[in-house]
Amino acid sequence: MEIRGRKKGIVEENYRINTKKNHARGQQKPASADRSQDTPGKYVLCPYCGKLFKARGTRKYCYGELCKTEAKRYRQSTVDGLVSKIRKGMYANLKIFLEKLPEPGQAKMDYDDALKKGFDEDAYYGTYKSKNALWHVVEQYYFLIEHTEDKRFLHIYKR
Ligand SMILES: [Zn+2]
Repeated sequence: MEIRGRKKGIVEENYRINTKKNHARGQQKPASADRSQDTPGKYVLCPYCGKLFKARGTRKYCYGELCKTEAKRYRQSTVDGLVSKIRKGMYANLKIFLEKLPEPGQAKMDYDDALKKGFDEDAYYGTYKSKNALWHVVEQYYFLIEHTEDKRFLHIYKR
């Protein structure tokens, strides 16, 4: 809250400097003129380094520093990492499903065995809700994990 107040003060100060150079300090201006003036730079917080800087246009990251490229690189690596993890999981899952259930139908296997083979419960395209279960979809396969007492099973269904 304190930052917001401070920012507002700086923005106002900045506005005065940019648009009222020829006016006396503190002079009143009609409210309608505010919007028609060419927009002075706003002060924004750089989302990468947290520095307060004066932005031109819709600039999000501070100038001079590497924040923009660094932030992009970071975002990219996070996304790439996630995509490759899911792709890897999806591949492992499909391999297990194909091995266990090559033809349409149903199969049940020990969940821990599936884990040993690289099964990844987070790797699926989407979900499908049946009467009383939520299935996870990978290609033409649907899977769900069943917990019964101390045992866990992986149910596989193929269309
Ligand atoms: Zn920055």
